[in-house]
Amino acid sequence: MPMTAHALPDAPCHLDGRWLPLNQAQVSVLDRGFLFGDGVYEVIPVYGGRLFRFDEHMARLAHSLDAVRIPNPHSRDGWLALLRELVARELAHSGQGDQLAYLQITRGVAPRSHPMPTGLTPTVFAMSQPHQPPGADQRREGIACVSARDFRWERGDIKTTSLLGGVMARQIAADHGAAETILLRDSGHGLTVTEGSSSNVWAVLDGALIGVPPSHHTLAGIRIELLRELCEEEGIACHLRPIAESELTIADEILISSAGREILPVTRLDGEPVGHGALRGKPGPVYARLHAAYERAKLEQSI
Ligand code: PMP
Repeated sequence: MPMTAHALPDAPCHLDGRWLPLNQAQVSVLDRGFLFGDGVYEVIPVYGGRLFRFDEHMARLAHSLDAVRIPNPHSRDGWLALLRELVARELAHSGQGDQLAYLQITRGVAPRSHPMPTGLTPTVFAMSQPHQPPGADQRREGIACVSARDFRWERGDIKTTSLLGGVMARQIAADHGAAETILLRDSGHGLTVTEGSSSNVWAVLDGALIGVPPSHHTLAGIRIELLRELCEEEGIACHLRPIAESELTIADEILISSAGREILPVTRLDGEPVGHGALRGKPGPVYARLHAAYERAKLEQSI
């Protein structure tokens, strides 16, 4: 076995129809996922052993697979059965009902050559890890972010395992002791926000929650529609439109959202406190209301 800096867990995982411990799962070196990052993935939150917003994740998976011409190896019900078994096995293993289920499909194994070979059997891999939603101190203090130019590719709508751009973007934050990198691109009318390295970005301006519309630069995060629905329930105005870099500096609140981080308040950006007055550098009221609504949604929308 190769030496690794971190011991691999023996949690259960699924690989091509087999169940085995994670530290025994192996794929071919000619797998196109390994050679090219030629694959797609999903991360689905699990609360109390139940999958949150499952159908929305399946719809995005279908979009990613179609975009890269990999056939979907399972029906919706096939995925549901597979993921439920995965979650049950992880629950038996760790005793944790709150999990993050990860699934990945690569194009399969073939001699190395760039064009997409046809007729391959996709490699299907799934694992699930105990999930600790953001803790009380992160919710109370908020997180620090840095901003950087978005140097990734122009197919941010595909949730691909080719993640070097995202890894490099996140490392900018890590190098500054921050939790996320907010990416900006020149949209022709100055710099606008695309997304975080692995999250969507929101700003509260004049009491309304503003989110970036999904495009080829911004992943259609499952929490985009969710937060729109939660705003509707809470009577908070919500609009999807470009967010200018300059608006981040005047925003009352900045939030990020993702499967793992749920929603979190950004209280420092590039070293400066976010917001105004008594709430400068502190989580704001829109965050507090959406966090409470998110907690309710977990109970109501998990299957
Ligand atoms: N953008 C990127 C680049 C991401 O990796 C993620 C996390 N999957 C998101 C946005 C947020 O999407 P979701 O809410 O579905 O986790």
